[in-house]
Amino acid sequence: MNIVFKASENIQKKMIKYYEDKRKEKTPSYAVFQAVEEDTIITLYESGKVMFQGTSADIDANLWIEMEKKLNNRTIDISNDSKKKETKENIFFNFSTVGSDEVGTGDYFGPIVVTASYVSKEDINFLTDLGVKDSKKLTDEKIIKIAPAIIKKIPYVTLVLDNNKYNENYSEDVNMNKIKAILHNKALVSLLNKEKYAYEKIVIDQFVYPKKYFEHIYSAQQKAVNITFMTKAEDKCLSVAASSIISRYTFLVKIKNLEKELGIEIPKGAGTKVDEVGAEIVKKYGFNKLKHIAKLNFKNTSKIKDILEEN
Ligand code: MG
Repeated sequence: MNIVFKASENIQKKMIKYYEDKRKEKTPSYAVFQAVEEDTIITLYESGKVMFQGTSADIDANLWIEMEKKLNNRTIDISNDSKKKETKENIFFNFSTVGSDEVGTGDYFGPIVVTASYVSKEDINFLTDLGVKDSKKLTDEKIIKIAPAIIKKIPYVTLVLDNNKYNENYSEDVNMNKIKAILHNKALVSLLNKEKYAYEKIVIDQFVYPKKYFEHIYSAQQKAVNITFMTKAEDKCLSVAASSIISRYTFLVKIKNLEKELGIEIPKGAGTKVDEVGAEIVKKYGFNKLKHIAKLNFKNTSKIKDILEEN
């Protein structure tokens, strides 16, 4: 058995004391100490993560989980994710960061939403307890459940580029990556203008090479600089993960409103279901409607026309 969770600072101190005379002489890299109690190996990492290994690992782990509840009112769920091994992959989780992420760029229907947020070290436990860490694996239901709490707690800026504006602006010179770059920069700049946050890094979930990114935002009045571009950043950086959740939540709300307005269920993505629903919408509301609710440059537009001609 292998149980891992992030311990609060006061609990870490208690652990160090508690396991003092059971410490192993050698400490693994990145660890504060490693101790053996009965058949359980306990390792506390510099990141604050603690790992319990052995057949009765849960007994030792539960002792501290109960203490987290009692002293810090934290509920630590070790049912699935937290059993995973400590990896160096998510090393960015322990920094105070500003991060941005977008949604809607692969969806024919609905707007593009970009969020930039600031996650300080103090908010790391709050977010990991909510399950923000594996944001890609979160279902839409779970996002709808946890996003309001995140929105309340952390500073963020969300920008929505509606379909009218998108369709007006999109051209050969202004492609999707340029639109994304401009929006990311705008969201980051307006967040950074709000307050002087004590961030250590600014992270963007990479969608284009850094050089190209700065070419795209060349004419912006203000630019956020010193950016770390990372692929799959939502798995490595909590502010990117939080931004991705807030963006997705905003997008889902917009789609819900659109469904209410049209009385039609709107599929996500850009597959064949999208073409069928697009044709249904045109039949009901006219072709012009698509301008206001869809990204016209997508191939779906011509497929919708094909469907309508066949009928
Ligand atoms: Mg992304």
